[in-house]
Amino acid sequence: MDPVRRRAPTEVVELAEGSVEDAPDLWRLGVGRLGQFTRYAEKVFALTRRLSHVHDSRRKPNTSAPTLARAVFYTGLLRIRSFNALEPKFSERPFLHLMDLPKDRQSLGCVDTVSRALRVMDLETVRRVSIGIVQQAERNKVFREGWHGALRYVAIDGWEPFSSTQRHCEQCLMRHVRRKDGKGEPVLAEEYYHRYVVAMLIGPEFDLALDIEPLRTKETRPPRVPKAGKFRGESLPREEDEGELTAAIRLIRRVKETYGWIDVVVADALYANGPFLTTLKDLDLGGVIVARKDADEPLKAALRVWGARPAQQEFDDEEREEHLELWDIVGLETLSSYDGPIRVVRGRVTNPNSPKHTTPKTWCMFLTGKAARLTARKALEVVRARWHIENTGFHQWTTRWKFDHVFVRDGDGLLALYWLFFAAFNVLTFFLYRQLRSYGRARGKDVTRTISRLIDEMQDDLARLGAFAPDSS
Ligand SMILES: [Zn+2]
Repeated sequence: MDPVRRRAPTEVVELAEGSVEDAPDLWRLGVGRLGQFTRYAEKVFALTRRLSHVHDSRRKPNTSAPTLARAVFYTGLLRIRSFNALEPKFSERPFLHLMDLPKDRQSLGCVDTVSRALRVMDLETVRRVSIGIVQQAERNKVFREGWHGALRYVAIDGWEPFSSTQRHCEQCLMRHVRRKDGKGEPVLAEEYYHRYVVAMLIGPEFDLALDIEPLRTKETRPPRVPKAGKFRGESLPREEDEGELTAAIRLIRRVKETYGWIDVVVADALYANGPFLTTLKDLDLGGVIVARKDADEPLKAALRVWGARPAQQEFDDEEREEHLELWDIVGLETLSSYDGPIRVVRGRVTNPNSPKHTTPKTWCMFLTGKAARLTARKALEVVRARWHIENTGFHQWTTRWKFDHVFVRDGDGLLALYWLFFAAFNVLTFFLYRQLRSYGRARGKDVTRTISRLIDEMQDDLARLGAFAPDSS
């Protein structure tokens, strides 16, 4: 049964019995799930106060930056597919009410104002809305217990929401792709895109968007510090666009500075190199990094030691019907670009009872810093949880949310938009898992569909709110 329907709507204000005077002011409070959500966002996260600090550089605007930021927040939350689709709402009373505007305000004006404001928004003020929400949750002790080994895990990964061969902005990255021209002849075309590195807090029940950093173009990238040396796979001359590792190192430094309580970074094989592991060590962060290249150290040394030996540990996971084999070696110092010991773990998973999964799946990983104290079995769990960033993050953001729609064709404008969408994503996540407590990962496989239904309910609630509008005459 669908958890939304199953659970009694504890806080939903329904029309009360009795006299009109006794009835709650539904116009003021909002109705249904949407009303419940807005009250939660205010009470727990002081959303309006946080948005009130958003600033942009327009002169004497008709509609303030905080109001437009709020409009973008709800565009993300309610999954409005484009600013064109948002336009009619700009003169509808329920939406104006949601924007917390005075009763006599008839319209928010033209929707182009939103993209104009996004382009010139002070990014730090809009970033603070999103990180403030996560930091508030931390003060509310939401993450105190940690996850495996009582540690807090951040997954990082590259993300490319969209690309185009037609239109671009000054901050677009460019690459050449093979295409077919009108006559079907292969040609080399220029393709423009924006690419980011995203940091996501991953946990047993839910995941949160922590931070985002764009890969900069050759014109906008900061000058490279000579000491950083050349990163593998990225030995590009200075005049090239940035690679993912460069942006990721900038990102992870800021993530640690912002959220001092995080413990371990989880990342794919692109990050299995000395410079990145050294960055983590300098920041006192542990690492659980996928290792794939058999010929690269220290995986090469580990494989040589393990040879054809049987696993050191074996387990049967009855719940998942899996058989686990683990190989483990500590203190390898064969990676010359990293000054310290690296533990290497290999885990092989077989599903003896499943005809679909006959080939075993193998993971190899490097464990550094605090992460090296995990048991091999826990380490395998962590590395397998890396899919959270691709599943609850990127996949959901493009298939369910509208993160892949080009709302604004401008690098800074996009970042401002993503920060506000992250804020909406995070408040909604807390609302689902902390307030409604009915969406735990364990409670059903199709969590995203359930969330979509909740959003549909909220859209209906917004339309319904019109019926409770006070007489505007
Ligand atoms: Zn662009």
